[in-house]
Amino acid sequence: MSENSQSTEAFGLLINYEYCTGCHSCEVSCQMEHNLPTDRWGIKLQKIGPWQIKQDVYQYDFVPIPTDQCDLCASRTSKGKKPLCVKHCQSLVMDYGKVNDLLKRFDGKSKFTIFVPKSGTKSEVIQVS
Ligand code: SF4
Ligand code: SF4
Repeated sequence: MSENSQSTEAFGLLINYEYCTGCHSCEVSCQMEHNLPTDRWGIKLQKIGPWQIKQDVYQYDFVPIPTDQCDLCASRTSKGKKPLCVKHCQSLVMDYGKVNDLLKRFDGKSKFTIFVPKSGTKSEVIQVS
């Protein structure tokens, strides 16, 4: 199998949501970067919980979820810059890179998710002025 298959070259966002504080900075910075109105998002924060699972164990997470309007900040990353949501996350919850490199960050000690747009590298972003 070729080492240059699409899966090895796909880029994505790693989101270590265990440490997400729900501050909304990723949402707002993405809207500003892509000139989106306040009712559209390139990434949307979701709150899960709180509810009790067992004694001293609760489900309570904030999970930012990229949408189909996320293009992985192609205009920035093509110049070697980080996506704006990654840059503005003060909790260092998010990172950007090759999917295979991001997968190596899974350590079983935290709650991770990786987002990859349909194309593997970018998706269309609808800009609204
Ligand atoms: S990578 Fe860029 S487009 Fe995608 S969610 Fe982050 S700021 Fe928005
Ligand atoms: S900027 Fe970071 S800490 Fe704030 S909501 Fe987004 S992912 Fe969570």
